[in-house]
Amino acid sequence: MNIVELIRKKREGHSLTEDEFRFLLSGYVEGRIPDYQMSAFLMACYFQGMSEQETLTFTTLMLHSGEVVDLTPIPGIKVDKHSTGGVGDKVSLILAPIVAACGVPVPMISGRGLGHTGGTLDKLESIPGFRTNLSIAEYKNVIREVGVVMIGQTKEIAPADKKMYALRDVTATVECIPLIAGSIMSKKLAEGIDALVLDVKTGRGAFMQTHEHARELAQTLVRIGTQFGKQTIGFITDMSQPLGMTIGNWLEVMESVECLRNNRGTNDASSDLMEVTHLLSGAMIMLGKKARTIEEGIEKSREAIRRGTAYETFLKLVRAHGGDISVIEDAGLRQPLPKFSIDVKSLERGVVSDIDALELGLASITLGAGRETIEDIIDPKAGIKLNKKVGDPVEAGDSLAVFYTDREDVLQPVRKRIENAFRVGFVKPATKPLVLDIVDKDGIRPWKWLPS
Ligand code: URA
Repeated sequence: MNIVELIRKKREGHSLTEDEFRFLLSGYVEGRIPDYQMSAFLMACYFQGMSEQETLTFTTLMLHSGEVVDLTPIPGIKVDKHSTGGVGDKVSLILAPIVAACGVPVPMISGRGLGHTGGTLDKLESIPGFRTNLSIAEYKNVIREVGVVMIGQTKEIAPADKKMYALRDVTATVECIPLIAGSIMSKKLAEGIDALVLDVKTGRGAFMQTHEHARELAQTLVRIGTQFGKQTIGFITDMSQPLGMTIGNWLEVMESVECLRNNRGTNDASSDLMEVTHLLSGAMIMLGKKARTIEEGIEKSREAIRRGTAYETFLKLVRAHGGDISVIEDAGLRQPLPKFSIDVKSLERGVVSDIDALELGLASITLGAGRETIEDIIDPKAGIKLNKKVGDPVEAGDSLAVFYTDREDVLQPVRKRIENAFRVGFVKPATKPLVLDIVDKDGIRPWKWLPS
């Protein structure tokens, strides 16, 4: 087989066979196919897509590029959650300890920042000492002892995704349904789960900017999960404004800790973050058979926060991964501080009518919170703290957001970018639903909250 022929074949819109995908993926993982040829292939996929059969074959080969972990000796129904990526999406950090505290084991393999979206691994690694590259033996020990473990793709687990994910991040080839499906499902199926909850984001800050594309992605992911015999539920949730109040790795850890400590998140502006968190936790707790319905699961999830058991589990998780608990308990201890913190003020009086999540995601990369090339090193301190969300009243001179960075040369352009990402109008905009649809093996339908 010839790699150039395979790139050309995909470029012309033809389907690849299983053998051809195998040649491509094994060649890439083993270093025979260089990044530049894989980049060309990924771009051909971006434009031509894949058939349903190709997507399944691609996912299966991605999964078997490494080991599939066997967690059957560990008691309980193992359930995980994955998001298709958003801005300020720190749900995993709060949800995983909640669900584990409710008695459902959570084995989680996450990714790094991708495109303009943040990644759970980068967030966790902003905790000094936190190791995300555990061996399989360590992974099994942590889930057995803490009930939750959070690692990244490794040389052993989902290595094809590890390499291809980093390449897609810097070649503008993320927003492609079969590539996203293969990336997410290979990680999730490798980690030893019995069931899975998916958060498929839609809106300006998501990879699927239209509701129609998000529905297609959600159905593809749920179909693959079901074909692999895993009970899979997907939700489509809104990502037009950032989730919660922070964007950037350490800032997001601090916000998550505040939510876990029950200091934030029910009545204040982080309520969108906790609404999504409790919904997804509720579905996981139901799949893990610790609640009969999603609603009952949501109640248990809220209780785990109220009682402090979720926070205790988070501390145990950080300790088990080698992280420094002292900066979690007192964020003021984390040093050094960012060199610059700049307040972006409103020029107008009115009501915040829109906050462009994509623009803020891109601005946070410029500040140092994400990567522009594979070699870029993340600055964990860099990011943006929002002081207003959509629907908030604002006076001229009020703070819209504060941004943090060590990069002096980006201060002016980023200030302008953040200023432009906020729209201020005269009337309060209609409230958008945060959760749009639910998808399972029976199909897709609008999500309806039951009265509590
Ligand atoms: N999350 C992933 O793990 N992979 C993608 O491609 C997109 C979101």
